Amino acid sequence: MRTKLIAGNWKMNGRKPMVRELIAGILSRLDVNQRSEVMVLPPFPYIPLVNSLLDATPVLLGAQDLSRHDSGAYTGEVAGGMLADVGCSHVLVGHSERRSLHGEDNALVAAKFNAAQAAGLQPVLCVGETLDERSAGRTDEVVSGQIAAVLEAAGVAAFGRAIVAYEPVWAIGTGQTASPEQAQSVHAMIRAQIAKEDATIAGRLRILYGGSVKPDNAADLFAREDIDGGLIGGASLTAEAFMGIYQAAG
Ligand code: PEP
Repeated sequence: MRTKLIAGNWKMNGRKPMVRELIAGILSRLDVNQRSEVMVLPPFPYIPLVNSLLDATPVLLGAQDLSRHDSGAYTGEVAGGMLADVGCSHVLVGHSERRSLHGEDNALVAAKFNAAQAAGLQPVLCVGETLDERSAGRTDEVVSGQIAAVLEAAGVAAFGRAIVAYEPVWAIGTGQTASPEQAQSVHAMIRAQIAKEDATIAGRLRILYGGSVKPDNAADLFAREDIDGGLIGGASLTAEAFMGIYQAAG
């Protein structure tokens, strides 16, 4: 049985007062009767503050991106080793905003996936199709291509230390959620793709859904066999909404 994970991608939002309020709100709503895990992914500057606020709690800490490089003359970039050094255990790679706004292609995403693992971080590999790709019936081809690039570069064993997040681009921040059937179908396809290489790793792999998840649509999504939690953007910015989704995960 895979433990569900509810991960909050804050994107580029918040200042110190909001960070403190949000973390206090999350911690006050943690429930010992819930099995699901919680993760927060703050912007880089707030990682040390969040790490100290989360001290001795079960809430996991991740970052939203990392460099493919370990150190050197890469002005403005942040290495996985630095993220591990300041308390992160996880990092997003290939979020659709990185792919579309920063030109990150499958090869760079695979390099970042490897860099994360080399630094001892668990990558959360984000994949998903655009609306045009879905309309053209290319969803499975696009998503399986994104997974294949990382499988080729990292090998299937690496998926034993990783999480996948299926995030249809047309559902991110739009209020338009994939139906539970649409999401389940892609999640099952991803799991089958990994299972072709290693059924045990595929069976253990957590595949999160992301794209306009809210407290009122979360339970239906999370009830599907291959949906192991959510990557939450907008609704992770208030503790009430974020932890409402956590409650729905059971
Ligand atoms: C995201 O940014 O990963 C995301 C899923 O955003 P939202 O929940 O706002 O659609």
